[in-house]
Amino acid sequence: MPRNYHILVLEDEPATRALLASLLEAESFRVTTAESAGQAQELAALHNFDLVLLDLNLPDEDGLYIARELRSKSDVGIIMLTSRKEDIDRVVGLEMGADDYVTKPFFPRELVARVKGLLRRLGVSRTPRRSDGDGRQVRRFDGWEMNLARRSLMDPAGREINLTRAEFDLLTALVEGAGRVLARDHLLDAIGSQYWTPVDRTIDVLVSRLRRKMEVDPKAPAIIITSHGYGYKFAPSVSID
Ligand code: CA
Repeated sequence: MPRNYHILVLEDEPATRALLASLLEAESFRVTTAESAGQAQELAALHNFDLVLLDLNLPDEDGLYIARELRSKSDVGIIMLTSRKEDIDRVVGLEMGADDYVTKPFFPRELVARVKGLLRRLGVSRTPRRSDGDGRQVRRFDGWEMNLARRSLMDPAGREINLTRAEFDLLTALVEGAGRVLARDHLLDAIGSQYWTPVDRTIDVLVSRLRRKMEVDPKAPAIIITSHGYGYKFAPSVSID
């Protein structure tokens, strides 16, 4: 890690909060903790956090709401901590602006790997990309326009679609591999995720969010097609300007 990243841990359970703080401090991260959503929002107004570890089940506020709030004000990285199967379904199903999630109970090494992976992704996308002039940075498909240099996406009606970093990086990988079926682990590499397990659903979560933003009918996708048990294919033909 290139510098001393500042991480906010929002967790109401004292033992878990202390465990998270000590795990991250052992990795030389600067850690600030909060035990309630209200406290976290006050801290977020004072500090420029690089990443927030956010418990979904809080006494005073819904974690998904906090994620949305934080994301509307900054480009901080967000990892949700969830403890129940139905929570995972909510995180996957709702548009809430988190970059990743970790289920409790978590393996310390996995948690640290997820944090480092997301920080690496944030570091990469915060560094301005070298563009070859302005040339060959635009991809067009089915009326859509994607500008890789500006990291923007316009729908066929000319409206800009807001994507998170990870969503944009994944869409870029899909578009650049249009017409081919791309394996999940290839796509994880493309978004800078270093940690992979056979049950990792990061890519599925991101694809589901992209479909909600892009597909006419997210349940019958025509743009990002599922290849069951393997990965995804970007179906439209893409032209490069
Ligand atoms: Ca909790």
